[in-house]
Amino acid sequence: MAEQSERASDEEVRETAEMILDARYPIALTGAGMSVESGIPPFRGPGGLWTKYGEPPMNGFQRFRADPKKAWEERLSKRNDELFKPLTVAKPNAGHLALADLERLGVLRFMITQNIDDLHRQAGQKALAEIHGNWTLIRCLDCTTRFHGDAISLEKLPPECPRCGGLLKSDTVSFGEPIPGDVLNMCAEHSALADLVIVAGTSATVSSRRSRRSAT
Ligand SMILES: [Zn+2]
Repeated sequence: MAEQSERASDEEVRETAEMILDARYPIALTGAGMSVESGIPPFRGPGGLWTKYGEPPMNGFQRFRADPKKAWEERLSKRNDELFKPLTVAKPNAGHLALADLERLGVLRFMITQNIDDLHRQAGQKALAEIHGNWTLIRCLDCTTRFHGDAISLEKLPPECPRCGGLLKSDTVSFGEPIPGDVLNMCAEHSALADLVIVAGTSATVSSRRSRRSAT
């Protein structure tokens, strides 16, 4: 729970609300901090999964490309581990619901999230770019069509795209994998229109492994 001193004053809340209402095209950017209250541990920092277990390989996408069958087998074997379990039980929290309300009210025009946890969608957010993908979806690397995980048979690995026969991968963007073009285009389009960005649960900075090392 936040310390009393970290809470915004009534005045600050009022000022922020006015700024949002005055904006012509407010958008939101959200990150891992958004979902901690839903029980999803962050990757970095105290209690972070990567802090505890080490970071995943930086060339995850290249490894997938080199041997998709093995990569799929590894992914499926992790279904119940500490990373996946919280994703399967998490529910949207008050923050997710408030942002979805802002969209429903016609105030918030678009959202960019770094989170893969599906919680913004579950809260009802519609105008959404998930720049790191969505763990419930499977994406074709050839035609970029996304399918719900339940819609794809995993009896034969790697699965093939029902639409084009291409290679299917989890929609979650791996290290070394380019952010899908359709998502990037949406981000560019709406960011160009935005005159206000609500930033929640992220420092909005990306640090490379090298800069993190030099910082410690
Ligand atoms: Zn396809």
